[in-house]
Amino acid sequence: DLANRMSERAVDVIRMLMRQGQMMKINDVIDADTAQLIAEELGHTVKRVAEADVEEGLFDTPDDPEALQPRPPVVTIMGHVDHGKTSLLDAIRHTHVVAGEAGGITQHIGAYQVTAPSGGRVTFIDTPGHAAFTAMRARGAKVTDVVVLVVAADDGVMPQTIEAINHAKAAKVPLIVAINKIDKPDAKPERVRTELLQHSIVVESMGGDTLEVEVSAKQKLNLDKLLEAVALQAEVLDLKSNPARPAEGTVIEGKLDRGRGPVATVLVQRGTLKVGDIVVAGAEWGRVRALVADTGVQVDTAGPSLPVEVLGFNGTPEAGDRLAVVENEARAREVADYRSRQRRDKAAAKITGRGSLAEMMKELKAGAGRKEFTLLVKADVQGSLEAIVGSLDKLGTDEVMARVVHSGVGGISESDVTLAAASGAAIIGFNVRAHKEAREAAERSGIEIRYYNIIYDLVDDVKQAMSGLLPPTV
Ligand code: GDP
Repeated sequence: DLANRMSERAVDVIRMLMRQGQMMKINDVIDADTAQLIAEELGHTVKRVAEADVEEGLFDTPDDPEALQPRPPVVTIMGHVDHGKTSLLDAIRHTHVVAGEAGGITQHIGAYQVTAPSGGRVTFIDTPGHAAFTAMRARGAKVTDVVVLVVAADDGVMPQTIEAINHAKAAKVPLIVAINKIDKPDAKPERVRTELLQHSIVVESMGGDTLEVEVSAKQKLNLDKLLEAVALQAEVLDLKSNPARPAEGTVIEGKLDRGRGPVATVLVQRGTLKVGDIVVAGAEWGRVRALVADTGVQVDTAGPSLPVEVLGFNGTPEAGDRLAVVENEARAREVADYRSRQRRDKAAAKITGRGSLAEMMKELKAGAGRKEFTLLVKADVQGSLEAIVGSLDKLGTDEVMARVVHSGVGGISESDVTLAAASGAAIIGFNVRAHKEAREAAERSGIEIRYYNIIYDLVDDVKQAMSGLLPPTV
């Protein structure tokens, strides 16, 4: 490959490597420094293109603190299936559409903004559940400021409720509990509060600091209160962003529209996005032809926390891709080209994810900052699960500890794999297997799944892996 790009013969490159004491075959991989040395010795000029160079200054450039303005919070709704996530999103949208815009006609663009009774605005991500949430996190995008955890008062805390709690914890995003379906005769909101205690969520009415609101999505009860709770939480978080700068954001949804071409719903996070801006997102770029708000109205600009459809991309970016405005087309092309090359290489490269015990051990040994073994544990019965998690918790030493990011009863699902990928965790199955989709997803993302049927073996393996990297005690 290197010979090819320099229009040299491969044998010459290999001979040169040999002279430096490196015995290489034609398809072996050499490091960047060696490549540069060889290229220069053959009389070529080298321009090193590293990620840091190409993406330099695209994201997260510092802002003058004076320029920071409060921005609306971004909320994701999570909870167990059928507990009312969709109903709640719909109810809030219909009762609180931003007044004065388009007479309340809304379209689904993946996110929407409403006005809370006190006047503050709140942005909701319109795809309930944690699949979207973790998929984005796995790609390094941080979008959600607050998670609203929906728990049905007639059903209580269920497996996906616990999953959602763990997702939020892993992402360090604060929770607000919405106890839903309180209109039902068999509603037991008190039971929900006590059950949450077992998962270290202490709601305010029980002396804790997690805000809770009793709601009914069906009867549209207390939605105002819920929005106020979100606004209150946002105040605590002191969310700020500079609107007066080129925009940065994250793609929430990407689709190819028959009439309009590639359409990306983007949540603007900093700066203001304008029609005419040149943008890159993932491996795609384009000039913004139009911006469409969730109300269906075309707008000329979109500021922080506002979701908008962006038209004008030359391809469809993916959910989780970060968007940035760049100074000209050449720059946009450079970044997009670089990224599509990178994605190709990544897909071609053999997957060595962080989610394997051996890989964690290597990182620890290399002193790469890993001080914990992240694990996700699934087991067939609650009793075994508790015993396993309990034993793993005890394994920690001063130097390294095992951290269980999620544990649950049941087979290993695709959503387990997504969470593991987002947290760089290995998955452990005790007397359970992985679903087919989960196995495939694990293979794709390089997550290791280990199966056990004896607790001792399981704990011993983790212990071995953990102590293997510790320096010998003198
Ligand atoms: P999701 O799976 O969490 O998105 O749940 P859905 O929003 O689809 O709701 C599941 C079921 O619960 C539907 O039949 C809803 O009509 C019903 N439901 C949702 N919220 C309420 C509520 O506040 N009260 C009552 N009685 N039913 C509700």
